Amino acid sequence: MRIALHWFRRDLRVEDNTALFAASRRADLVVPLFVLDDHLLRAPDLGAPRVAFLLDSLHALARDLEQAGSRLVLRRGDPLDEVLHVARALGAEAIFVNDDYAPYGRRRDAAVRAAAEAAGIAFHGHADLVLVQPDACVKDDGKPYTVFTPFARRWRAVEKPAPVPAPTLRPLPAGLARKAASAPLPATSAELGLPLEAQIEPGGARQAQYRLAAFLHEHVLSYRSTRDVPALDATSHLSPHLKFGTISPRTVYARVAEAIGSPQLAQLDPQKPGRALDAASARRLSEAGTFLNELCWREFYQAILFHFPHVARGAFQEGFRGFRWPESDERLIAAWRDGRTGFPIVDAAMRQLAATGWMHNRLRMVVAMFLTKTLLVDYRTGERIFMQRLVDGDLAANNGGWQWSASTGTDAAPYFRIFNPLSQAKKFDPDGEFVRRWVPELRDVPAALIHEPTREPLLLAGTGYPPPCVDYAERRARALAILAPLAKRA
Ligand SMILES: Cc1cc2nc3c(=O)[nH]c(=O)nc-3n(C[C@H](O)[C@H](O)[C@H](O)COP(=O)(O)OP(=O)(O)OC[C@H]3O[C@@H](n4cnc5c(N)ncnc54)[C@H](O)[C@@H]3O)c2cc1C
Repeated sequence: MRIALHWFRRDLRVEDNTALFAASRRADLVVPLFVLDDHLLRAPDLGAPRVAFLLDSLHALARDLEQAGSRLVLRRGDPLDEVLHVARALGAEAIFVNDDYAPYGRRRDAAVRAAAEAAGIAFHGHADLVLVQPDACVKDDGKPYTVFTPFARRWRAVEKPAPVPAPTLRPLPAGLARKAASAPLPATSAELGLPLEAQIEPGGARQAQYRLAAFLHEHVLSYRSTRDVPALDATSHLSPHLKFGTISPRTVYARVAEAIGSPQLAQLDPQKPGRALDAASARRLSEAGTFLNELCWREFYQAILFHFPHVARGAFQEGFRGFRWPESDERLIAAWRDGRTGFPIVDAAMRQLAATGWMHNRLRMVVAMFLTKTLLVDYRTGERIFMQRLVDGDLAANNGGWQWSASTGTDAAPYFRIFNPLSQAKKFDPDGEFVRRWVPELRDVPAALIHEPTREPLLLAGTGYPPPCVDYAERRARALAILAPLAKRA
């Protein structure tokens, strides 16, 4: 009997799983394995929301595997020891994985591959995490893109892979099951020393399918018009599912392409289709195609991390290497982290993050710019706090978002970008609905004043809401004087 291991990592689903399907085609018996990696569990930027979502998704995966006739083997420790131990104990001929592009994952996989091959066990990596592999979306001369727009043009032109069929799974014979002893799956993140305070998105493939179905039903055809308004909550909330692979990007892409009309239409630029379309198709492409553009951003940052792994440690741009950010006042950092800056939109967003482990994309940009360009704090401080608090914390996307906001990254704008948090608030939360939802102290402040804390400090006094923690105009001028000369101009 040919036995293969499928080692799950960021692909916590049975359906539309490239390596799992490949393993089930090549072997008579596939043994599904997950390793709770001690190295990752000790990481300083690990937080309870991500671990809780992971455990929830593992419980769901274990149930789904049982329904499909199989059983998840769980181990805890160093993957190099654990994967090899289980493979040897079972007499497995091969180990199947879906490729990881982050620096730690690549090192880990290279070590496991070398040890497996030395032991006569094949190691098969498959493309699954993204629709277009980082090394398949490069310039004509083979060099990686460093600017989003040309990357997106090439990415759109590539035909996207279709979802893969369900694998055929079988139960482990009793004798083998004894050899592949499984550790108990912790019920909560508290058992791993990380008590959860936030109310987070449930994990698992079914919840992911539910989120996708709800998004397709309610929001996809108005995505472009509504995605920037936090009070509408009109985005997909698929980010933790894409992070942990409880849904595959192929499934998401295929369903959205269907909503647009066809795979060919979905490949067009949503804002400049380049050919005449009837009004209905043009509208569907503009709205839902903008969502596909967000999937492309996700893949752009995966590609940046793959080709430029130094971004995990410091600035993408050379001008910022060795730069010391001017502000390190712990009280200011704590005010930002805890939603007490006296800038209502910033505080509402940071409170949403603390309470739910998730934050709206527009507000992620606003609070990141505020920390770096108003408080003048090193973006890596915010990047770490986000990782600790986000349920979807993902090195590539989070680092990309922070470096874009701090102007240390790949943003090609020919000017130094600073979002004024008060004008952003007026534009994207005009009635103050989002602020009132998360900052109850301001519940009774009229819409005309809710985003004016600097002009009307006395009116807000008595609400218990703090005054602005810094003078915005003075800080903005300092940011322009200190940071702008370092930022690269396209
Ligand atoms: C400072 C900062 C930090 C961020 N940190 C993360 C992070 O740790 N993990 C994460 O998944 N996203 C991160 N993002 C990107 C984005 O904010 C979230 O993906 C999005 O808000 C998730 O909500 P959604 O699933 O409803 O998004 P939707 O609008 O429904 O988008 C669909 C999917 O596209 C991807 N996506 C959307 N926008 C981006 C983007 N700008 N960059 C990369 N991928 C994107 C996500 O996978 C998302 O689920 C960050 C953005 C910024 C500015």
